[in-house]
Amino acid sequence: MAKVNILGVNFDNKSFTQFQNEFIGRINAHKSTLIVTANPEIVMAANENPEFMKILTYDADYITADGIGIVKASQILKKPIKQRVTGYDLFVWLMKLANERGLRVYLIGAKPDVIHAIQAKIARDYSDIQLVGAEDGYFNEDLELVAYQIERTEPDLVFAALGSPRQEQLLSILRKNLLPALMMGVGGSFDVFSG
Ligand code: UDP
Repeated sequence: MAKVNILGVNFDNKSFTQFQNEFIGRINAHKSTLIVTANPEIVMAANENPEFMKILTYDADYITADGIGIVKASQILKKPIKQRVTGYDLFVWLMKLANERGLRVYLIGAKPDVIHAIQAKIARDYSDIQLVGAEDGYFNEDLELVAYQIERTEPDLVFAALGSPRQEQLLSILRKNLLPALMMGVGGSFDVFSG
């Protein structure tokens, strides 16, 4: 089964390797791509927030099962999802790919000291990445303006660590504008990656 619906959210039933192959294809083709890594909290939040559910239904190109709770639910529904695919694992893999290929990366989210630590880590360990933006997630501008600032840097990859649903709201603006980048909300991943 290609898609598995859990409480209104359509999960892609793909292995980590299948996602990797599809994402590489879309990066190569410069296709605008929004990835949502959804855990049970996100499914519950979307059921209480119609605007968030709309983003998951109409704007997301891929929804991965980020949490064993989702995989378990799919088994109970007798439509087992192949594998848990977390935002953090995809993020680390995409950063390695970006380094190998010298891709343009925009990071937004987390506290200022975390984003500074990530900048230092990239300079040290991922020095072939073209870091076109590194902004913390504690800003007052509205999301439309922030989206415009991101677009102007012409990134290949955009990672937003603002928590849900705000990170998906920001990325859905870019997706609707057809920014030719692969975009993913990564929750607390910057905090982990910076350490
Ligand atoms: N965050 C942010 N701006 C905010 C609130 C949160 O950048 O206004 C960041 C926070 O620093 C953390 C990330 O969002 O790095 C994810 O937060 P949380 O762990 O609450 O989200 P989850 O991973 O549970 O979706």
